[in-house]
Amino acid sequence: MSFLRYPADVLTGIPEERIQFLKQYEDWFTIEAPALRKITDHFEQELGKGLTEEGGNIPMNVTWITDFPTGCEQARVLTMDMGGTNLRVCHVKLEPNRRDFEHTQRKFKLPGEVKTGTGEQLWEFVADRLKSFIDDHQIQNSISEKVPVAFTFSFPVHQTGIKSGVLQRWTKDFNVAGVEGHDVVPQLTAAFERKQVPARIEALINDTTGTLLASRYFDPHIQVGSIFSTGCNAAYMEKCSNIPKMRDEGFAENAKVIINTEYGAFDNDRKVLPLTSFDRDIDRKSARPGTQIYEKMVAGLYIGEMLRLVLLALHEEGRLFCDQDISPLKREHCIEAAFLSAAETDTSEDLKGLRKEFEDYFALSPTLDDLKICRYLIGLIGIRAARLYACGIAAVCKKTDSFRCHVGVDGAVFKKYCGFKARASQALREIFDWPEDEFDLICLNPSESGSAVGAALAAAMSMGCEAGKRS
Ligand code: BGC
Ligand code: MG
Repeated sequence: MSFLRYPADVLTGIPEERIQFLKQYEDWFTIEAPALRKITDHFEQELGKGLTEEGGNIPMNVTWITDFPTGCEQARVLTMDMGGTNLRVCHVKLEPNRRDFEHTQRKFKLPGEVKTGTGEQLWEFVADRLKSFIDDHQIQNSISEKVPVAFTFSFPVHQTGIKSGVLQRWTKDFNVAGVEGHDVVPQLTAAFERKQVPARIEALINDTTGTLLASRYFDPHIQVGSIFSTGCNAAYMEKCSNIPKMRDEGFAENAKVIINTEYGAFDNDRKVLPLTSFDRDIDRKSARPGTQIYEKMVAGLYIGEMLRLVLLALHEEGRLFCDQDISPLKREHCIEAAFLSAAETDTSEDLKGLRKEFEDYFALSPTLDDLKICRYLIGLIGIRAARLYACGIAAVCKKTDSFRCHVGVDGAVFKKYCGFKARASQALREIFDWPEDEFDLICLNPSESGSAVGAALAAAMSMGCEAGKRS
């Protein structure tokens, strides 16, 4: 079975006339090489537009981090990573010239109420968890000393320095009142004060920036850091001379700065992406309609929802799960990305793994034909996500003339979704038209160090903590 492209073999045994309708789905979800190239070219232009004063769809946020790590960083920092699902607190110790680190970590699930409540509730939740971590691990050295914290905040912020950031908008269906348009650092600092947490924020960074720094710390060929998880985004180092919106900042001629692209917002004006009616539906029902259009077509938070909408539509039309009570599938977001990945690893003839998933999660008893059709649709959705994901990476690589490089990728969906990397790499191959016998010239390398190291490096760099250079 061809795993990289149309998973049609899985339909073997179903009479042709029963699956005619799938042609339509194949058309909607298949993106061939010329379309990938067209999307990539437009994407590259849009990245450039985001760097101008007028701006465009893609924010291209300046992070104020002007160097890659040298390996000489030396620091002990607390890091906090507020992702889509968890808050991770870590104590990281960086040692010079060892490119090595030690850490202790704790993970707290972000409850749904916290993602949709008020800013005060959110920051107090974070402050409480940090306080208990500091207490449990006895991290504070002296009563008067505040512990330096690097905060990974995986949302678009406009920064005027590394220790501040005004939230431009919530993404990933977060919807916390009173934060958009405000600097998150003083808000969190105020919560530290209310809760008597002895900590001060030394760096505010995006998860993609953290991934870029952490991956680059171990591998000098890294040019891009990317996340493919609940959300999707990338960061890279740009020449300041290519950033018209920074013209007045007084940077040296050859200075560079890391840009957090926030390219999930690509094509919010809907110029090139082949949106289906299902994509429009997902956008309409999201917390911020009209935003993050690209992200909503590819990222982990949405691919399960895409499958759910497709299954519901086909049931309506009498093509799937006939005479079954499909009410468990009516709950929004009840299908997670992990469901699709598990389905794609099921290569058994009777698809018993997928059958069990449907039975366990949704109390459905699909026929074998139902299962085959679902498996096929899941393949289409998974392949589309990976191929579109590749366009963003390709655009950044083109923009920076990085035609041979490594891309550090983090995120649960990238690491766990069966075949995702192979499919995205295949799409890169098609976009750049690499010779058949050539290895991948742009390699998507899973970032193994986790979010904490990148944040700690950012704080160390911001505090000037390098061996032999202390300020
Ligand atoms: C956010 C980005 C983040 C990405 C991956 C997006 O929704 O806007 O800041 O990097 O998700 O977590
Ligand atoms: Mg994360």
